[in-house]
Amino acid sequence: MYVESSKGKIRRLWDFHGGLHLPDNKRQSLQTDLTSATMPARLILPLRQHIGESAIPLVKPGDRVLKGEKIADNTAPVCAPIHAPTSGIIKGIEAHPIPHPSGLNGPAIVLEVDGKDEWADLPAPINDFQNVDKSLLLQRVRESGIVGLGGATFPAAIKLNPGKAIKTLIINGAECEPFITCDDRLMQGAPDRILNGARILQHILGAEECLIGIEDNKPDAISTLRSHLTDDDSIEVVRIPTLYPSGGEKQLIRILTGQEVPSEGLPAQLGVICHNVATAAAIADAVLEGRPLISRLVTLTGEGIANPCNMEVPLGITAADLIEQTGGYTGKSSQLIMGGPMMGFNLSTDQVPITKGSNCLLAPSEEEVPTTGSALACIRCGRCAEVCPVNLLPQQMYWFSRAKELEKVQDYNLFDCIECGCCSHVCPSHIPLVHYFRFAKTESWAKEKELQAADHAKKRHDFRIARLERLDAERKARLRKKKENLGKKKPVKPAAKGEDAKKAAIEAAMKRAAAKKAAQQSPPKNTDNLTPAQQKQLDAVDKHRAETTADQE
Ligand code: SF4
Ligand code: SF4
Repeated sequence: MYVESSKGKIRRLWDFHGGLHLPDNKRQSLQTDLTSATMPARLILPLRQHIGESAIPLVKPGDRVLKGEKIADNTAPVCAPIHAPTSGIIKGIEAHPIPHPSGLNGPAIVLEVDGKDEWADLPAPINDFQNVDKSLLLQRVRESGIVGLGGATFPAAIKLNPGKAIKTLIINGAECEPFITCDDRLMQGAPDRILNGARILQHILGAEECLIGIEDNKPDAISTLRSHLTDDDSIEVVRIPTLYPSGGEKQLIRILTGQEVPSEGLPAQLGVICHNVATAAAIADAVLEGRPLISRLVTLTGEGIANPCNMEVPLGITAADLIEQTGGYTGKSSQLIMGGPMMGFNLSTDQVPITKGSNCLLAPSEEEVPTTGSALACIRCGRCAEVCPVNLLPQQMYWFSRAKELEKVQDYNLFDCIECGCCSHVCPSHIPLVHYFRFAKTESWAKEKELQAADHAKKRHDFRIARLERLDAERKARLRKKKENLGKKKPVKPAAKGEDAKKAAIEAAMKRAAAKKAAQQSPPKNTDNLTPAQQKQLDAVDKHRAETTADQE
């Protein structure tokens, strides 16, 4: 189909497979103006508020912190820091119920609010963003703790550094989940923040065009944004048909560009990057005002809530505090859902805090969102496959998930499932298909981690063995060399010559000493030193003695 975009241009739109026309139930929360929540007495700030590594506390109990001060961060590549939403004292860092389908507790920083709302020194605004180094803008987005606010919670700075040329920036204003209207309210109330954010994103990515896709059930948002567009021809507001899940990243890319993101691939491969409208507004706040992400818009709705509305709320306020501020519960609901009825999850307690990814608190009546009865056997009707927007085979994935044959589920592209819930919604047997797929994903990740851990341990073991073998070989080589050197020393003549000379010198010295000693021990004879006359006499005596001895014989 073809539509006219904001610039009077005719744009072609494409269909995606499956999808559902759902009663949107958005009217309820749009009847009142946007308000701001009152700051509660304490805030609970979970350390994991994004996809990636948990943040690590930079504060300790007893510390006083100021509004906007960074209180947790991590040097891991995929992480976003956390900032204090107001001033106060850190009361503790402890396990607390967090908004997660598991219902388990998680570590969180507890901030006791001091009521002064005193700001920390914020980084200087970068108004001239088109003339600064892009790395400075990326650093600002990262340091401001901005994550995908449409619910994906992926750190925004990483998505802005795709390492590929980007042609098209898509700003996602589709908000296709029934009941949720916070993006709609933002588009109507803060169009300039969104458009400024879009310009900053476009500049960082170097994208030649920016398309803001909005479903046609939000006419006020479309007209407001269009009326605030200046003469910048590169940004277009495109009205798209209302069909769940048009707000899914891959589906919106397909609708606006006709391109299919490949299985397990990323939009950047197609030269496309997609960001939510609220993320764009947060990026504008960070760059143009130096303000970190410390609050967000939340829809409170459903017949179980006294006054459905949208509120700007500080991160860390509990669902209970927030619902209390809107007038409390009506008693018409038996469930409290975080998110929408299709992709949200049931909360086991309202003591969980609002985090960066919390876009809605829904307390629906039984008519609004029926609680599904017991699941029946699959009748192989194939309806789940008909509605799947990713063209998967949910029925087959269900069998293998149920049998815990994880590799086979992955063969059916489990990780392409966007958990939209279309299959579960239409299943006549009320099989909670998407729960099986979430379970299979979690199990696969756990198994993958186990394999990685085992692989790591094996590598360490092999490395140790190799190191010991090397040390042993080196020791043996040293010994061998030593032996060889010893063997070579015997025939070395210069050394032998030296030894002989030394020996001869010693013998000569000994002889001299013996001679000297002998000379000293012999007394002088009376025949020594005779005169010639004396010698003559002595010779005559010796002659006579010799003649006498001869006669006697
Ligand atoms: S919709 Fe339900 S019953 Fe029908 S094939 Fe899928 S899982 Fe089976
Ligand atoms: S939840 Fe997954 S399998 Fe089911 S319709 Fe959505 S994408 Fe398809």
